[in-house]
Amino acid sequence: MSRLGTETAFEVLARAQQLERSGRKIIHLEIGEPDFPTADHIVEAGGRALREGWTHYGPSPGLLQLREAVAEDVARRRNIAVDPSEVVITPGGKPIMFFAILALIDRGDEVIYPNPGYPIYESMIEFVGGRAVPYGLREEHDFEVDVGEIIHKITDRTRMLVLNSPQNPTGGVIPREALVELAKVLVDRDIFILSDEIYSRLIYEGEHASLAQLPGLRERTVILDGFSKTYAMTGWRLGYGVMRPDLAQQVAKLQTNANSCTASFTQIAGVAALRGDQSCVDRMREEFRRRRKVIVEGLNKIPGFRCRQPHGAFYVFPNITGTKRDSKTVANAILNEAGVACLSGTAFGASGEGYLRFSFANSVENIQKALDWIGEWVKKNL
Ligand code: PLP
Repeated sequence: MSRLGTETAFEVLARAQQLERSGRKIIHLEIGEPDFPTADHIVEAGGRALREGWTHYGPSPGLLQLREAVAEDVARRRNIAVDPSEVVITPGGKPIMFFAILALIDRGDEVIYPNPGYPIYESMIEFVGGRAVPYGLREEHDFEVDVGEIIHKITDRTRMLVLNSPQNPTGGVIPREALVELAKVLVDRDIFILSDEIYSRLIYEGEHASLAQLPGLRERTVILDGFSKTYAMTGWRLGYGVMRPDLAQQVAKLQTNANSCTASFTQIAGVAALRGDQSCVDRMREEFRRRRKVIVEGLNKIPGFRCRQPHGAFYVFPNITGTKRDSKTVANAILNEAGVACLSGTAFGASGEGYLRFSFANSVENIQKALDWIGEWVKKNL
């Protein structure tokens, strides 16, 4: 258990809520979830499903109607062939990380993963006894992956490469050309790719690309995606993995052991989300685009802060080395003294030192207020 990590966002949320209970006003820019309600037609479908009796166990890999809808959606958006037997529905996208790493990584296997990156990759790799081999995402390269660095880190023991685009916490997006370069090296090797595409519908410039689209890599890529971010459904717990059928069977078996199946009525709501009107997704993205501008411009006006414009997801990852303090100290002080909850860059691995992560899934009004409060804190304390 000592090797298992955690996700600091939940800890900071708890601390922020404790401050609120003691009467403090806190602006929440720490947790990564859309602040929009789930669209009416999806809520209706979930309610109807409950009333119609979708209140029982279902098959471990997921209800066939949802696996069919996911297969169609993933195939159409990525222009690849997907069969429902390649889809496993899980409570959120996160279990796909857990299950894929558990299924594929043995003690001593090397897994190349992003650092700074979503903390559960490193946590799970180490938990199963694998060797976590980090690759960087550099501000000066707009937080794009450095293909050369990844290739350089591949050894005979490399069993998996984790990619995440758009990326949490940097908002970096991997361009198709970079994937093509990577594919040239990966195609001849026995390496699985865990491709975390949970923010694939939240891209502000360019188009989403996946290694699964490149010849020879479809069979070795596990696509992780879901409903949490795209349809503002974090609390419904609904996500999926797309992988070759033999692996899908093993992952479904892990699910049988862990949670039997994903809740049935949420899966019926998921079909409505995928097959229904998509304008809620577009509206949310455009609102995030507006907020991105406000937060990037605002942070760049604060002395000691320097912020790039993210190309996807709803996070900014400003460089705060100009404050001459470490990330944790600044994150704690901003919460305790300025009333703004954010995460230290180190919540995403050691390479996050020198950065903070703010989620801009909050109203423009609150973002502006948070910027004012941070600005005042900096003026007073630095
Ligand atoms: N992958 C990344 C990169 C994330 O940021 C998150 C959630 O924050 C997830 C996966 C998990 O999402 P879900 O809520 O669908 O489990």
